[in-house]
Amino acid sequence: MIKLLLWGIAIWLAFKYALPALRRLNGIQNPQSPRDKGAQDTVRCAHCGVYVLRSEAVTDGSVYYCSDGHRQAGRS
Ligand SMILES: [Zn+2]
Repeated sequence: MIKLLLWGIAIWLAFKYALPALRRLNGIQNPQSPRDKGAQDTVRCAHCGVYVLRSEAVTDGSVYYCSDGHRQAGRS
């Protein structure tokens, strides 16, 4: 009977402490945590000054533009 009680306490402790700790560890190891989603690097167009995502920007060397037209127009 005491074994059953000890198993019950062990399982209760596991659910109370181990599972939240595992979830926290999983959140640290996962680089795409909810807070990071949507946070992307933006750059400023050298022609019109609008901010665009770095992945969508047109580059000319180290200079960023919002579109190919503005790249051809050059810096303002
Ligand atoms: Zn532009």
